[in-house]
Amino acid sequence: MNFHVLTLFPEMIENGLNTSILGRAAAKGLLSFEAINIRDYTLERHGQADDYPYGGGAGMVMQAEPIYRAYEALTERIGSRPRVVYLTPQGRVFNQSIARELAAEKELVFLCGHYEGVDERVLEMIVTDELSAGDYVLTGGELPAMMMIDCISRLIPGVLNNQDSAEFESFHDNLLEYPQYTRPEVFMGKRVPEILLSGHHANIEKWRREQSILRTFKKRPELLERAALSEKDQEFLRELMQNKA
Ligand code: SAM
Repeated sequence: MNFHVLTLFPEMIENGLNTSILGRAAAKGLLSFEAINIRDYTLERHGQADDYPYGGGAGMVMQAEPIYRAYEALTERIGSRPRVVYLTPQGRVFNQSIARELAAEKELVFLCGHYEGVDERVLEMIVTDELSAGDYVLTGGELPAMMMIDCISRLIPGVLNNQDSAEFESFHDNLLEYPQYTRPEVFMGKRVPEILLSGHHANIEKWRREQSILRTFKKRPELLERAALSEKDQEFLRELMQNKA
């Protein structure tokens, strides 16, 4: 997967993504990140890429031309017209299933807005998807782009050492993950649950599944409506609900 990020602040993207697991995956050639400086495509003197809003109002608006030219130059270079995600608080709120869908793409472009946003005309011309980090307003699209790229990258085969860790995490099947523990066995008087030390895999699996359901029930009960629950899971959930009543 090749990620191309159109931004006025390329150093944010370069510094943010080339570390840890993603940095290693890029070094292995499993994915690549490219920050494209929109300013390099302006026709204005002094590299200006924003201007005052027509009709008045506060702040500046990113101009259409440099963004359009940056995207066209990219498509010419790579020989295809990939999906373009515009980061905006007005978009669909990003989640794990959107990440799974996007992980199937070969190339993805992220367009980061800044200031008051982007001239609507270029959005109409090149954007295929509008995605939001959540119902709040940030200063720019760079952090949401990095957050989404991080999430999508973990789903690309080979990026995580053990593919299982992506498959059994929170939101798989719309359930939250069970609690995790590591050494020591006792920390400030608090013991690791006995079952995890038993070596009995079937019992450990059962306990983890029940913990997942319990956590989801307590923290994010609305997820349970879409969770894939077996007959046994449903029985466990009914017991939880009865005990609460
Ligand atoms: N005036 C815009 C509006 O009310 O919809 C908000 C502009 S915001 C200050 C500047 C840029 O930050 C946006 O163009 C967008 O790229 C990014 N941004 C802000 N909040 C975001 C969010 N929740 N999700 C994704 N991108 C966001």
